[in-house]
Amino acid sequence: MKSRATGAEDKVAALRCVRCGAAYAEGEVPYTCPPCGLEGVLDVEYRPGPLEGLAARLRADPERSIWRYLDVLPVRGTAGRPGLHVGWTPVYDFPVLARRMGLGGLRVKDEGRQPTASFKDRASAVGVTKALDLGYRQIACASTGNAASSLAGMAANTGLEATIFVPATAPEAKVAQLRAFGARVLLVEAPYEAAWALCQEAVEAFGWYNRNAAVNPYLVEGKKTCGLEIAEQCSSDPPDWVAVSVGDGCTVAGVGKGMEEMRRLGVWTGAPRLLAVQAAGAAPLAAAAARGLEDCEPWPEPRTAADSINCGEPRNGRKALRAVRASGGRWVTVEDAAIFDAARDLAAATGVFAEPAAAAAYAGVVCARARGWLTARDRVLVVSTGNGLKDVAGAARAAPPARRVAPRLEAVREALAHPGLAQA
Ligand SMILES: *Cc1c(COP(=O)(O)O)cnc(C)c1O
Ligand SMILES: [Zn+2]
Repeated sequence: MKSRATGAEDKVAALRCVRCGAAYAEGEVPYTCPPCGLEGVLDVEYRPGPLEGLAARLRADPERSIWRYLDVLPVRGTAGRPGLHVGWTPVYDFPVLARRMGLGGLRVKDEGRQPTASFKDRASAVGVTKALDLGYRQIACASTGNAASSLAGMAANTGLEATIFVPATAPEAKVAQLRAFGARVLLVEAPYEAAWALCQEAVEAFGWYNRNAAVNPYLVEGKKTCGLEIAEQCSSDPPDWVAVSVGDGCTVAGVGKGMEEMRRLGVWTGAPRLLAVQAAGAAPLAAAAARGLEDCEPWPEPRTAADSINCGEPRNGRKALRAVRASGGRWVTVEDAAIFDAARDLAAATGVFAEPAAAAAYAGVVCARARGWLTARDRVLVVSTGNGLKDVAGAARAAPPARRVAPRLEAVREALAHPGLAQA
């Protein structure tokens, strides 16, 4: 493939293969390391020059979105980037809940407040900007849902044409969302892995830009903005642990990279350990970590109701395993029942409504505390990666029932007197 000017050559020092260590220049290869194929995911390394004085510049910068980090993002960043507000999501502190859980602190960073209601907007915003930098008009991805709706929203905002490959079993709300954004939606009658492979074939056949976080090295860079923000938002009181739910592994790797970059730049002194959480029914990375492996083996028939992390062949496994190990972190798996309980308990205790895959991170904290991996001294930050409205059927599974009443005050009185009775 012919190399293309990307406009980010002045910032990006190299794209380095996570498998063989080979370094490529910006624009030299389209996605992964050619000799290593799909396993040769590239990691973006930056030139030191543009980063000098970044800590001071950030302190003075009033921008409150991912674009305040333009110096450490691999895009030209002039025209064309999405106008939707991405990033700088709130970090809430819940000291009462922390005490109840026997923790030194509990904070939640609510990614459900992103424009399309999930963490994926960070990656899609960078992916769309990169596509525009490179002169593409069409972009595609395969996703269990959130990456898709996020890409569809960012494409709608910038005028790119998006084609989305989703498993036909994706939750209705997510599919409705991407149809509303006007994307071309292909419901693939097969599991996620097959939808993913079909998208790979299609981008090559039709010459579209590939937004799949698994092969596109720039998307982890978008995801790392969450870690950059955690560092700035918690610089005066760094957490000891950051809990993130894991499917493909790109999110946890990005969050780890962002926090580490900020430490190198002197923005904060925090070095939180990553608590990486997988669903017990789809846990190839937790299994690999338990065996001390660098790479994971495919998990046959991944099965969890937390659809956003129902992933049997993680494409960013190596990056994820590495990031968790480098942080001194741990892997934990949680059953679906614990995930639904966690979604209900988190919502009821904090007002933050998390979709099942997001609540899995909180379930992981509950589990790690019960096992004594977390202690009464530990201050924990949970990244809640997606909004509960993404999957209302999931949310309804563990939530307490509502009470039916006749339209009379007497019936209300009765309901108040016998709260446990006759629930609908
Ligand atoms: C995608 C996703 C994750 C996991 O991210 P990976 O990069 O696949 O590990 C977690 N939670 C939600 C809500 C997601 O959409
Ligand atoms: Zn390689």
